[in-house]
Amino acid sequence: MARPERSARPGSKPQAPSPKPQAPSSLGIYVHIPFCTAICNYCNFNRGLYDAGLKTRYVAALRTEIARAGSDAADTIFFGGGTPSLLEPDDVRDIIQSVCETFTLHTDSEITLETNPETVDRQKLERFREAGVNRLSFGVQSFQDEELKRLGRIHSAERARVAVREARAAGFDNVSLDLMMWLPGQSVQSWLRNVDALIEAGPDHASLYLLELYPNAPLKEDMARAGWSLAPDEDAADMYLRAMERLETAGLEQYEISNVAKPGRESRHNVKYWTDGQWLGFGCGAHSTYDGARWKNLPGTEEYITCVTNGGDPVIERRVMSPGERLEDALFTGLRLRRGLDLSDFTVRYGMDVWARYGDALQPFLQEGWLVREGPRLRLTRHGMLMANEVMAVFV
Ligand code: SF4
Repeated sequence: MARPERSARPGSKPQAPSPKPQAPSSLGIYVHIPFCTAICNYCNFNRGLYDAGLKTRYVAALRTEIARAGSDAADTIFFGGGTPSLLEPDDVRDIIQSVCETFTLHTDSEITLETNPETVDRQKLERFREAGVNRLSFGVQSFQDEELKRLGRIHSAERARVAVREARAAGFDNVSLDLMMWLPGQSVQSWLRNVDALIEAGPDHASLYLLELYPNAPLKEDMARAGWSLAPDEDAADMYLRAMERLETAGLEQYEISNVAKPGRESRHNVKYWTDGQWLGFGCGAHSTYDGARWKNLPGTEEYITCVTNGGDPVIERRVMSPGERLEDALFTGLRLRRGLDLSDFTVRYGMDVWARYGDALQPFLQEGWLVREGPRLRLTRHGMLMANEVMAVFV
């Protein structure tokens, strides 16, 4: 399943003057569930096959890790994976309970469960809702069975449609759907049929992700064997631009490079990743960013359980970010938002005149029409979003 991209940042870091302390804001809590029923042929996430005994021990370890965290205010919980909807609703309730015992969870918190359509029915969804989940993010990926088969997905397009209706019947008023774009053998027209089907399903939020093929993905072999190819780059750009137009016409406004939502239904959890927020990740391979430091947990499910159960600390790769890295990260991620960056805010928080530092390097992108400067704001145009990596490279 897809999560917001975090970027590796090689090379030298720009040095900023001493930053002012970050204003305290409520935390996001990320809970990783590494289990799936089957492994999709393009998947590079931290996951493995579901095993009931392993799941029970994992949930116990998760609750132990959460109970050991320091108390703080939190206003979002995001169950990501893997396939979190493979958990029993009672497991989800227990984990939320652990979060409530450790953190001060706001009463109107957003609690999201990534859900695969084939893992739920109306009754199970009702029980997730009773457990405290108030937002579902369905991994639909395509509304065409042939495309789903190519990806190794085990649900059908009809199952996805029915799951959304079941979610509504179960009382969920905040439902997101993920679609993947630029699939093997996919034309602009077949992609737009998926977009239309998504609109017809009537979600409150949608995420459109470009298929990324990692070097040893089994899908690459499948493509070679079956003769499936990717549409040319110009078609991928066309897919993106036309999808965004259709979604906006349907009332789903773009608020980030890959995300659209009805007004007020933006993902509050994911917005923390793009606005210099703070979050704590629990579970194997989970990442955290808190108080100017960043760390990640042991990636293996079994090694994570053993470590936590024996009283150990599962954190690896902890490091304090330099002021330059924090600034760079905030610029890089903030530009993903449609509203872009408020440069005056950066002056206040980081003591730096961003335009004085990067203006010369950014000027060509303004001339190209990829960037717009409006008062204190700097934002990508929609065409600029297609070239986001080139623009953002200025900051790293
Ligand atoms: S369901 Fe998601 S996490 Fe699991 S194998 Fe497929 S893409 Fe990966």
